[in-house]
Amino acid sequence: MPLAEILGQDRAVAFLRSAWRTGRLSQAYCFAGPAGVGKRTAALALAQAINCLAAGNAASQATADACGRCAACRKIAAGNHPDVIEVRPEEKTVITIDQIREVAARASLRAYEGRAKVWILDPADQMQEPAANAFLKTLEEPAGVSLFILVTATPSALLPTILSRCQEVRFDLLGEGHLRDLLARHGRPPEAAALAGGSAARALALDVAEAHARRDRIVQEVWDALGSLPAVLERADDLGSDRPAFEAALEILAGYTRDMIVAKIAGGAVPLVHGDREADVARLAARYPVGAILNVFEAQVEAQRALARRANPRFTAERMLLRMRDAVGRGQPACVPRTGREGSHGPHGSG
Ligand SMILES: [Zn+2]
Repeated sequence: MPLAEILGQDRAVAFLRSAWRTGRLSQAYCFAGPAGVGKRTAALALAQAINCLAAGNAASQATADACGRCAACRKIAAGNHPDVIEVRPEEKTVITIDQIREVAARASLRAYEGRAKVWILDPADQMQEPAANAFLKTLEEPAGVSLFILVTATPSALLPTILSRCQEVRFDLLGEGHLRDLLARHGRPPEAAALAGGSAARALALDVAEAHARRDRIVQEVWDALGSLPAVLERADDLGSDRPAFEAALEILAGYTRDMIVAKIAGGAVPLVHGDREADVARLAARYPVGAILNVFEAQVEAQRALARRANPRFTAERMLLRMRDAVGRGQPACVPRTGREGSHGPHGSG
């Protein structure tokens, strides 16, 4: 995305565009600021501005920005431009000395396709001490065609000798208005803006929480309904009334059932799709023999196929629920009883 489209970081963006327009880019930057406010996005945007194929034309000269559409811009956005390399912690723990040695070996080489190599170390504070020392040496040598961007929420965790060789660019928490714009851009409802504490990542994650709640509701309503025929028919009406929503619900239900099977036969050895609900998945799975759960799964997959064939959603839902009810034993309450508990947690009760 071009620098101009970055939300809520006007000061940092103006500073970077000015440096780029006037040919005064530093060799190394430290993008510092709270998590989830656009530091990495800005690093990629700067890499695009530098390597954009349209950068020579008058329009881009005036705006000092990437076009966002050329082959180079698209490659950078997709993470496969040979001159724009993200260095991330290996196995989510640390940036190793081997990774930095590779950076050092390649940093002095010419750019393959673009104007300059851009190295994005994110989060840079995850460099182990040997890695940090090796990186310091790389910074001390005149690299010429390489630009380094160190992304961090805690610049104080970097070696002072590294920090002193980087130009620091501060990124701020995002205002609620900017978060609303961002949520709108992602097609999400605006409510999360007020609860996100200035972090775009958190604003978007709050929608994940919402999605989790939706999932929990769908799973509970469907499994609860299996206990009685009127409830089955009512649920079929509900699921069958909206084809896209039913398709989404099936995705959730089949994933959850798959998890129940995995929990039953593999214990904790295989990761669950709904890992955040591990205990609830196991508890629901424990109520039925594995053959019954396999039949439930089959019923759900069959419903997915039927919808893909454009079958009637209402009949598809009814058929699936009746097959599920049959599989788990008709008339039996499907779920952990909810009597005596606050709220309605069905299969996800805490007890
Ligand atoms: Zn471009």
